[in-house]
Amino acid sequence: MTSPACPLCKKRGIPVDRATVICHAKESAWPIGDNPYHICENPGCEVVYFSSGGCLKKADVKTRVTFKESGPPRPLCYCKQVTEEDVISAIKQGAKTVEDVIEATGIGGGGLCKFTNPYGRCCSRYYLPFIKRALESQ
Ligand SMILES: [Zn+2]
Repeated sequence: MTSPACPLCKKRGIPVDRATVICHAKESAWPIGDNPYHICENPGCEVVYFSSGGCLKKADVKTRVTFKESGPPRPLCYCKQVTEEDVISAIKQGAKTVEDVIEATGIGGGGLCKFTNPYGRCCSRYYLPFIKRALESQ
């Protein structure tokens, strides 16, 4: 089964749970309806979530969705509220390994990703590659 395409940019979306969309939708975008939602992963597209009943753009979502943002703060771990800037700062202050960064920032293990992360998925698939890249670029 292929995913439906974003109504604005036509890129295929990734399915997201309705509970996740409810957590991130601004009250002004209520009601979000009962149709299944998808997230648009195109960084340049204003649409965050869409369903066959409509879409929620960046302005309709209260959470900063990291890949849609070019400036700080760029959230990395929503449960523990750690940003990309926090990770960079930990590395500047001497963190040398992924474990050091985890210890210094408290990133990961929050367990609430279904509600806090705009994908509704564990943040580690995003923050681990980011931490590795940040360490390598030092
Ligand atoms: Zn889009």
